[in-house]
Amino acid sequence: MTRGSKDIIKLKSLTKRYGVGDAEYFALKDLNLTIKSGEFVVIMGPSGCGKTTLLNMIGLLDRPTSGEYHFDGASVEKISRRRQARLRSSKIGFIFQSFNLIPGMPVIDNVALPLVYCGFGKTRRHKIASKILGRFHLNEREFYMPHQLSGGQQQRVAIARSLVNSPSVILADEPTGNLDSRSSHIVMEELKEIHSQGNTIIMVTHNANLTTYATRVINMLDGTIFTDLKTVVDKESPVPKAETVVKKSRRRTKERGKKSEKKTGTKVKKAKIEVKED
Ligand code: ADP
Ligand code: MG
Repeated sequence: MTRGSKDIIKLKSLTKRYGVGDAEYFALKDLNLTIKSGEFVVIMGPSGCGKTTLLNMIGLLDRPTSGEYHFDGASVEKISRRRQARLRSSKIGFIFQSFNLIPGMPVIDNVALPLVYCGFGKTRRHKIASKILGRFHLNEREFYMPHQLSGGQQQRVAIARSLVNSPSVILADEPTGNLDSRSSHIVMEELKEIHSQGNTIIMVTHNANLTTYATRVINMLDGTIFTDLKTVVDKESPVPKAETVVKKSRRRTKERGKKSEKKTGTKVKKAKIEVKED
């Protein structure tokens, strides 16, 4: 089995209810979704349809009301909150619309922050953070404060932070929502590069133009998946070539297993940041 064909995320009948009684509201309703390692999934849908709630569930930031969640083959409900937190900090990277950098903390410390939870000492943390900032051509900004950077630079720092613990899954919630088109393009090119190194990316966006980066486009409506469209990526061409499957979620669930996956042909290799110890 190639790495690209492994189920990294499997959600079965996932439901999230907020409130009780008259205030009861289902942000996610009986949602089924399987994401394979190496996919670049773009999630779209009207405001309030449950996109952020879904990312929060996948990212283990919140728990579903009912349903099953398997991450990399393991049932998430069955492990302790402590192990969930460890899983989150070692396997999942987050990028948010508002960057979520800590103000008053230099860029290098912001990027190094996820490593605190890995128990690394400060020197080691800085070394890893500096290396990854170099990849984003941000070494000269290491000791700047976030407010001294442009929006695009802040988002690239946030992407560097999301990658610092070498996660395999990157969750991005409208990462270009606060950026101008030039900065959006730079950020998307970074995500494309990260994807080409074998990472799984799940990105929420309102910008239909960005679906050209995706290998799969999911449209949500009222807390469930409305359409699920897979694209075939041609190795020679950066833009997905042919759109293959458009199915309403229910029919898709029924037919699962009958349909053989189309291979994307992209090379899958996990990004690693190597750091030599002194
Ligand atoms: P989207 O990201 O697609 O705009 P969200 O996932 O943020 O939508 O929200 C889905 C629905 O759930 C919305 O109607 C929202 O008001 C509701 N919701 C989200 N978070 C909470 C919460 N903590 N408490 C109550 N309702 C919530
Ligand atoms: Mg949202």
